Amino acid sequence: MSTIVEKIQHIHQQIDEACRAAGRPAGSVALLAVSKTFGVDAIAEAIAAGQQAFGENYIQEGVEKIGYFADQPAYRDKGLIWHCIGPVQSNKTRLVAERFDWVHTIDRLKIAQRLSEQRPEHRGPLQVCLQVNVDGGTTKSGVAPADVEALVREVAQLPRLCLRGVMSIPDAAPDFGAQLALHQRAKAVFDDIARLGLPQLTQWDTLSLGMTADLQAAVQAGSTLVRVGSGIFGNRNYATAG
Ligand SMILES: *Cc1c(COP(=O)(O)O)cnc(C)c1O
Repeated sequence: MSTIVEKIQHIHQQIDEACRAAGRPAGSVALLAVSKTFGVDAIAEAIAAGQQAFGENYIQEGVEKIGYFADQPAYRDKGLIWHCIGPVQSNKTRLVAERFDWVHTIDRLKIAQRLSEQRPEHRGPLQVCLQVNVDGGTTKSGVAPADVEALVREVAQLPRLCLRGVMSIPDAAPDFGAQLALHQRAKAVFDDIARLGLPQLTQWDTLSLGMTADLQAAVQAGSTLVRVGSGIFGNRNYATAG
């Protein structure tokens, strides 16, 4: 069993190789460590390996970890960045707006409006991505590709949000080609919006695509941020999550 530090190194190697294979510059893809269900000790190991960006799915669990590290003087200068990558219900927007740095899962204007209204003045704008549903029916979260432009035009106006790009969680696909085809749909949505040249979109630069099992295909498709959980922390045990 390798350590968290070794696994992070291994993921960086995989990202570098995927960049080479895609003809993309090294360092053009950032690593988000998805720490849901894992405790602060595991996160501390990742921080010791130089990891700064962490993704959490469950708001309450994430807020507790954010608070833990904020209260430790030793971690204040580590530049930790917390990304909310799980669904956000209306009754959780205040916690998210107050505590997180990023939200990847915006798919409704109402949630975006609440996050903007509730973002504290002393913090910079909340960085957000729209979640796009590239392969699902109506039961899946995320906005349909055809509806992205309308939502972008609304969210881009909200004063306390900075709209950075698109995120997607396609269903597991059997092989590289199938994974690539799904990720390319999200990339096409991202490019279509970029081509609009909307003046409010001053930092449209983030394509949050790829997890442990499909990060090579995601990088090939143009991902700028891969979200890796089990590849860093090991298998999740939801029964003991808290
Ligand atoms: C859990 C999760 C991940 C990480 O998945 P792994 O397969 O463990 O790498 C990435 N993105 C989202 C939205 C997740 O919920």
